[in-house]
Amino acid sequence: MEFRDLKRQYEALKDKIDAALTGVAASGEFIGGQRVRELESELAEYVGVRHSVSCANGTDALVMALSAWGVTGGDAVFVPDFTFFATAEAVACAGATPVFVDVLPDTFNMDAESLEDAVRKVAAAGEYKPKAVIPVDLFGLPADYAAIKKVAESYGLLALEDAAQAFGGGIGDKRAGSFGDAAAVSFFPAKPLGCYGDGGAVFTDDDRTAAVIESLRCHGMGRDKYDNVRIGRNSRLDAVQAAVLLVKLEAFKAYELQSVNRIARRYTRGLSGIVKTPVIPDGYYSSFAQYTVTLESKRLRDALKLALKRRGIPSAVYYRRPLHAQRAFAHLPYDGGCPVAERLCDTALSLPMHPYLTDDEVDAVVCAVRECIEAQG
Ligand SMILES: *Cc1c(COP(=O)(O)O)cnc(C)c1O
Repeated sequence: MEFRDLKRQYEALKDKIDAALTGVAASGEFIGGQRVRELESELAEYVGVRHSVSCANGTDALVMALSAWGVTGGDAVFVPDFTFFATAEAVACAGATPVFVDVLPDTFNMDAESLEDAVRKVAAAGEYKPKAVIPVDLFGLPADYAAIKKVAESYGLLALEDAAQAFGGGIGDKRAGSFGDAAAVSFFPAKPLGCYGDGGAVFTDDDRTAAVIESLRCHGMGRDKYDNVRIGRNSRLDAVQAAVLLVKLEAFKAYELQSVNRIARRYTRGLSGIVKTPVIPDGYYSSFAQYTVTLESKRLRDALKLALKRRGIPSAVYYRRPLHAQRAFAHLPYDGGCPVAERLCDTALSLPMHPYLTDDEVDAVVCAVRECIEAQG
């Protein structure tokens, strides 16, 4: 069994993907071009925003959105302590300082109270100017934007949604990628919508933000690539990735997203009462980049991971270290304000999850988890 079986997905989509790849080879159009424009317009329509600006990866999408807003040295940007490193790395790449905020034990997403607390402390200390917040839609589930935006508005913070793991997730009739002043998505192969390499996009309703990012991704271009009006970078999506994404987006919309949700419900039916299963609040929809359970202790979590491995079932620890404890951020102060993030690093375990898992495979994982937990007493 694979943790995320991309080969099975390829088998299912082989004819269309092969045709898409050879189509790019024959077109001679490798960077940008018609396929990229078509993808951007389909993505914007699906997410429900005015602009989708594709780029080389999700990390660049975050950095360029911050840069487009003028976030720079002396600014504080608030990020959850429990997320992939890139969320905070992007802040540092923009020249600003990440400030770590605790998360909620049920959804693993940013705790708006902890955010308000952190913003107040930074404002009172006066060393950095509170400028933006990056809520992460962790494991596919959107963060609590109603609560977070209230805090953002009262302190004048811009909100950048890190939807790298959440393409397809939603709240009510709104989709992930539409909740911030801008949002970043990643098309890394293992994400809910993945390409065959690196890829990413920024989503926004703001015309100016979109225009600046279009410039930034291509050497700060003005009228054209040889008219350079700002320092940018090289961060474009290539046509191979766009062609693959156009094929995969169709399957994603037609059945993959429903499939992971059906699998999640089957896991939850089998595992509730045995381990703590994912909590999806009313009105929320997850794209289940990960199906993550929590155990009562690190000992139990580690024992379960090992026991599953012995039975040939892969699992993953997202994340083993809170961001504040990463060596790259050792110079930043930490006042013990993220106990929930610390605990989740010790107790969370992600089980195999992808749209092509069979019911028999899901049942085999459920059975193995039950037996391992019972054996641990
Ligand atoms: C994957 C990921 C990113 C970075 O995306 P890349 O395309 O790998 O650069 C950023 N934030 C989160 C939460 C992620 O999971």
